[in-house]
Amino acid sequence: MKKKEIRRQKHRLKCLLQKWVEPLGMGAWRRALYFYYEDDVERFKGELGEVLFRTTASWPYEWIDIEVNVPLMVDIPDGELEEYFIHELMHGLLNEMRENDIKHEDRVCTNLARAFRWVRKYAVDRGTDEEAS
Ligand SMILES: [Zn+2]
Repeated sequence: MKKKEIRRQKHRLKCLLQKWVEPLGMGAWRRALYFYYEDDVERFKGELGEVLFRTTASWPYEWIDIEVNVPLMVDIPDGELEEYFIHELMHGLLNEMRENDIKHEDRVCTNLARAFRWVRKYAVDRGTDEEAS
């Protein structure tokens, strides 16, 4: 990947982090994004294929680490990327509910990611985004 493209992709995620961390109540969380490129994408391949993110979180200590498969990000439209990214943040908030299997947590993460995007859009469309606080 060219440096310019890498910068562009990193910028997309940093903007999403800035956009969502405070409204989701995760401002005090320690959070980190780790970017991986062509040579390191093996870590993103699993039984369900290649994934975009790998997230590790600790709810008692309020930290979240998100590993990013940058080459896979390139063709994902902004809206979709936003939903997937919120989904990862939801893993931070829902981490304490995880039991043996991640499936239920995963599904709830997706539903909440969509819900938050709709609520934000609704607020912006109505011009009440500023009043929401
Ligand atoms: Zn998930």
